[in-house]
Amino acid sequence: MSQMTKNEFAQVEMKLRERQSALLEEVRKELDQRENQHLASVMGNHPGDSGDVSLADWLADLNILRVDRQIRELREIETKLAQVREGTANECVDCGKPIGLQRLLAYPTAMRCVACQEKHEHIYAHGAHPGL
Ligand SMILES: [Zn+2]
Repeated sequence: MSQMTKNEFAQVEMKLRERQSALLEEVRKELDQRENQHLASVMGNHPGDSGDVSLADWLADLNILRVDRQIRELREIETKLAQVREGTANECVDCGKPIGLQRLLAYPTAMRCVACQEKHEHIYAHGAHPGL
């Protein structure tokens, strides 16, 4: 169940878009520095986030390995933006409970509540030692 107001969703969306812009700027700088100036200029004509075209997909199609990390994070942001539109951005993917506004503002791409995130990290950190 969503317990966040429209205004709170808007705050999370703003954080996501800020992060998205910052990442795109990183990508643009990365391309500028290297041999791909033409790609950097192409980015000026990118399709934008009208909703039809994923920026992350578009960048991935260019097959630029250097910006892999940014592409991964852009995908997370796009997933989260879609959840904002659906009104599910504050639901934990594991338990369905609200993630909490403060956590979302601190980590706009958070997919889990604090409890589930700790469990998740525990499993990944100590997965080789079952029996605990
Ligand atoms: Zn949870």
